[in-house]
Amino acid sequence: TDPALIRNFCIIAHIDHGKSTLADRMLQITGVVDDRSMRAQYLDRMDIERERGITIKSQAVRLPWDGHVLNMIDTPGHVDFTYEVSRSLQACEGAILLVDAAQGIEAQTLANLYLAMNADLHIIPVLNKIDLPAAQPEKFAEELAGLIGCDPSDVLKVSGKTGVGVRELLDHVVQTVPPPVGVADAAARALIFDSVYDTYRGVVTYVRVFDGHLGKRERILMMSTNATHETLEIGVISPEPKVADQGLGVGEVGYLITGVKDVRQSRVGDTVTSAAKSATDMLAGYEHPKPMVFSGLYPIDGDEYPELREALDKLQLNDAALVYEPETSAALGFGFRVGFLGLLHMEIVRERLEREFGLSLISTAPNVVYRVVMEDGKELTVTNPSEFPTGGKIAQVFEPVTKSTILAPSEFIGAIMEICQGRRGQLLGMDYLSEDRVEIRYTLPLGEIIFDFFDQLKSRTRGYASLDYEPAGEQEAELVKVDILLQGEAVDAFSAIVHKDKAYGYGVDMAKKLRELIPRQQFEVPIQAAIGARVIARENIRAIRKDVLAKCYGGDISRKRKLLEKQKEGKKRMKMVGRVEVPQEAFVAALSTD
Ligand code: GDP
Ligand code: MG
Repeated sequence: TDPALIRNFCIIAHIDHGKSTLADRMLQITGVVDDRSMRAQYLDRMDIERERGITIKSQAVRLPWDGHVLNMIDTPGHVDFTYEVSRSLQACEGAILLVDAAQGIEAQTLANLYLAMNADLHIIPVLNKIDLPAAQPEKFAEELAGLIGCDPSDVLKVSGKTGVGVRELLDHVVQTVPPPVGVADAAARALIFDSVYDTYRGVVTYVRVFDGHLGKRERILMMSTNATHETLEIGVISPEPKVADQGLGVGEVGYLITGVKDVRQSRVGDTVTSAAKSATDMLAGYEHPKPMVFSGLYPIDGDEYPELREALDKLQLNDAALVYEPETSAALGFGFRVGFLGLLHMEIVRERLEREFGLSLISTAPNVVYRVVMEDGKELTVTNPSEFPTGGKIAQVFEPVTKSTILAPSEFIGAIMEICQGRRGQLLGMDYLSEDRVEIRYTLPLGEIIFDFFDQLKSRTRGYASLDYEPAGEQEAELVKVDILLQGEAVDAFSAIVHKDKAYGYGVDMAKKLRELIPRQQFEVPIQAAIGARVIARENIRAIRKDVLAKCYGGDISRKRKLLEKQKEGKKRMKMVGRVEVPQEAFVAALSTD
């Protein structure tokens, strides 16, 4: 395809403002999906996306329109997946910034707009959902125009649901988004913006070609690893994979299959070139995202450890933000310490591992990364509470902080400030976006906002507040490690690093929870919460004499055997902590967040 006829754009917006629905209408109006095959949020292909009604992965689709080729990328909206969005932006020249005409600008509207501006994209401001009775297109067109610095009349108005205005929007994309520029006869350079492991076809690599041409049956070179492969299949997504034997030229977006099974051969952010005529310079890749939250992941059945490792390798291919390394826990056995971008990311990863790879997992309480400076000047990076030094030699502890932006109607300013203050926030500033809408900026410890902060914010503002945050360095804080002891023995999986003001609460809650969850044993089991040697909470599980066989009156042998077997079964699902038998379910329940 002549690059002059190509337009590459993405749809960006706050979560639920209608990106995926607008993408649906575009699929339909351009004729790539017929009415019969249409289903809502067509591009949300993973079960978990469909069930939760959210987009997790960006999806690129080729659409024919008015003699042109449009490559449209639908993106996720949640703050945890900003990294996914910023990658998609690099494959585009334009972005549709979509705003719900009944809600107005929200936190991720701003965050995504800034990302698109940094990527030098042409921005098309669009109000969506104008079919809603509660829509206020005039008011929010003004708000949006004020933000972007255009005239309110330049803001397009559409309904992704009814399709009103979508044709005009597609025409507008053709007229205003610049075509890709690249050198057609230069050595090929294509950016890998995503890849996925397919059981039947091996690694499928998604690319955007910047210069030159990639063909079928061509030897290609992955520039960062110097590995060469042959392209067995090359094609475009529209909206299902379609083989394109003529290959991909300047500005085109598509996929490659090389038959490679080793997932490490195809790295997101790498540049693909031709082995025969190699490019000398790589394209600017992606900055590697820094994991913000860590948690231990363990197979419930210890024998599944190798499967867990393999599943993580494969998932990482499709989720470049995922990092992990092996760790062992006295209580839980062999597992991994896994880094995530946030709690939603953590939930999704765990769910994908369980669903796509058939594993049953336990995850330990998530924590952020701390930097501990010892009195002798030594420094430690702590991603796991068990690495937190005990004893009195700690000089300083630093925790990560964020710059958080909250958007809400101005009547909630008081409530928002109260929540932020309660979480050690420091007010940075406040701006009115319009008469009754305010943007409040705070420095907040990351450890304070990743847990129920957003839920609290939502409930105190009747659902009207939205939140975005980005890392903003670290600050010194008074943090301590709380250990939970069973019969005097610390259970590593239950340790947590918390602010000293919250240590007591954590200890009391955990001890109470465990008293409920751990069955009585043959002997008394004290549960204690402690900071170092200082006990801050205590509970007791009373002893019981349980002799199941006593019930059998010695008569029925087969019944006796059955009972013994049942008891053995039960034992298998027990973990021993010292002499104490802790059922697997107790770990799962105690570590669950609610
Ligand atoms: P995304 O998170 O930005 O991808 O948003 P979705 O496309 O998943 O849409 C979120 C919700 O808004 C869904 O319930 C849609 O049915 C609804 N929605 C999307 N576009 C429109 C629209 O134009 N009009 C109305 N009334 N509802 C819409
Ligand atoms: Mg979506």
